[in-house]
Amino acid sequence: KIALELKNVKKVFGNTLVLNDISLSVPWGKVISIIGPSGSGKSTLLRSINGLESIDTGDIEMGGLPFMFKNNNKIKKSNKKLQVLKIGMVFQSYNLFPHKTVLENVMLAPLYHKKNKDQELIRIHALAMLEKVGMLIHANKYPHQLSGGQQQRVAIARALAIQPSIMLFDEPTSALDPELVQEVLKVIKELSNEGMTMIIVTHEMKFAFEVSDRIVFMESGQIIYNEDPQQMKKTQ
Ligand code: ADP
Ligand code: ADP
Repeated sequence: KIALELKNVKKVFGNTLVLNDISLSVPWGKVISIIGPSGSGKSTLLRSINGLESIDTGDIEMGGLPFMFKNNNKIKKSNKKLQVLKIGMVFQSYNLFPHKTVLENVMLAPLYHKKNKDQELIRIHALAMLEKVGMLIHANKYPHQLSGGQQQRVAIARALAIQPSIMLFDEPTSALDPELVQEVLKVIKELSNEGMTMIIVTHEMKFAFEVSDRIVFMESGQIIYNEDPQQMKKTQ
């Protein structure tokens, strides 16, 4: 069963074809890593999947249902089932609110979105997500009291707090000092072991080969390879 399907997606910025006929299938529970040079369209691809960018032609389907793009960016989720399917995203920069505690940062989105704002339930779930990323003991600290790796783990907990069906990571370790990279990759690896469907843009090749079911190479807005890393090892 397919979680996410991109069919002949094209996106133009000015005169540049930033996404040039992208087709990609992501089955539920699978991990896809996207690698490629800077400017090849990786970030735009993730942002299109998350509705942060509109696409010019093609289709994006989630759980077999088409997204409908409206007003040049917003995804209109007309279908009830599609409304339940949420996408969590983690960016290179963690962008935590500096004047809110770790716990408050994680609770913010669910408090904002939930119609029945059961604060206590949201708090308990947020604490569980912080435990999952190993940050429960820092729940009452402020972002500036944390390392970059710790802040990024909070950002992952924040994305998980909306209970997403799919997680997108846009170079989650690129802004980190080298010694902090592994603690973040470890959390992402654990999510993959739990069966989370994920698309990860990364330059961490060893990690990508370890966790991914497919490795997608992008260049100039196109997918030039889409391979099973196990097969790639065999043919090397
Ligand atoms: P990558 O993530 O692979 O580095 P991006 O998706 O960020 O690539 O960018 C792909 C191309 O699209 C680049 O040439 C970039 O300059 C351009 N681009 C990205 N966002 C915009 C935008 N909002 N307006 C115009 N051009 C953009
Ligand atoms: P990344 O590191 O993910 O590739 P960039 O630094 O390329 O991101 O872009 C950061 C932001 O600037 C994104 O929101 C992207 O859409 C926008 N952007 C990138 N290139 C351009 C561009 N040429 N014109 C306008 N906006 C751009």
